[in-house]
Amino acid sequence: MDITRIGVFTSGGDAPGMNACVRAVVRTALTYDLEVIGIRRGYAGMIEGDFVEMDGMSVSNIVQLGGTILKSARSERFRTPEGRAEAARRLREAEIDGLIGIGGDGTLRGASIFYEEYGVPLVGCPGTIDNDLFGTDETIGYDTALNTAIENIDRIRDTADAHDRLFLVEVMGRDAGFIALNSGIGGGAELVLIPETITGMDEIKKRILSLMSAQSRSSIVVVAEGDELGGAAKIADALRGDPSFARIDLRVCILGHTQRGGSPTARDRVLASRLGTAAVEALMEGHANVMVGIIHNELRLTPSRNVWQRRKTINYELLKLTEVLS
Ligand code: ATP
Repeated sequence: MDITRIGVFTSGGDAPGMNACVRAVVRTALTYDLEVIGIRRGYAGMIEGDFVEMDGMSVSNIVQLGGTILKSARSERFRTPEGRAEAARRLREAEIDGLIGIGGDGTLRGASIFYEEYGVPLVGCPGTIDNDLFGTDETIGYDTALNTAIENIDRIRDTADAHDRLFLVEVMGRDAGFIALNSGIGGGAELVLIPETITGMDEIKKRILSLMSAQSRSSIVVVAEGDELGGAAKIADALRGDPSFARIDLRVCILGHTQRGGSPTARDRVLASRLGTAAVEALMEGHANVMVGIIHNELRLTPSRNVWQRRKTINYELLKLTEVLS
């Protein structure tokens, strides 16, 4: 079946570069004479029929904007068969015969289930700051979030240094340590704690105490939010309860949602543009239930199921580097 009218949506956590991807999808589709419908608020908007016609002008001046002009949402209703039936009905009614979804592993998981139930072809674009998707070296938004984290670590380092303080800086990434590991190296952290490795509390205490006494200066520990010890605040509580830390001026800084916002980096804009165009072309070539990604600078298609069933591993060489360089 030829595709004539596609829907594009952003879903899950927003990520800088989603707009650049939407722009690429819309402009590429128009070049191929496809009609494009923007589906607002992800699967929630799909269920409610929150659709808007897109033309070339509707994506003017957005390549540099963070967030997403289509809005994003998490939808509990889409997890239910009834919610997905309603979404399918809305798509039929609007004569949408292909979908491009920009989001994370949950989005791709929902898309696979929806495809298996209703057969609406869907090509996914990896959009999440966490970089935790199998099938692409980097996800849209990751580079911007990483740079934001490093910029903030630099600022924290200034104040930590002025007061000889120990800072625990918590970065995002859910249960993956990509942002923590790379911002730790780029920001010169003395210690990096990520979910992929287990560092016991005794080991953490030993490492911090030796760092603080040997160099008698400030230290920065980068903690991934998904670290098995429960994040920076919990680790700080445990350290404060230990008399050996009584004389250490310990502070916690949770970078939180600052990592999601802001203008996308050049790298994210280019990545998002390449993936958006590739997604439209994949859909037109008859692919369905796949995600477009870039591996070793080459465009690749990966079955959506693999994206959320397989785990992308961190580069353990980088972990070693944090130890050598601290
Ligand atoms: P991020 O990585 O930024 O959190 P995400 O796409 O993983 O993005 P989720 O909230 O996990 O974000 O998923 C987005 C939406 O996808 C969910 O709100 C839900 O509507 C849909 N979804 C996720 N998992 C399923 C599932 N098992 N069945 C049906 N729909 C799902």
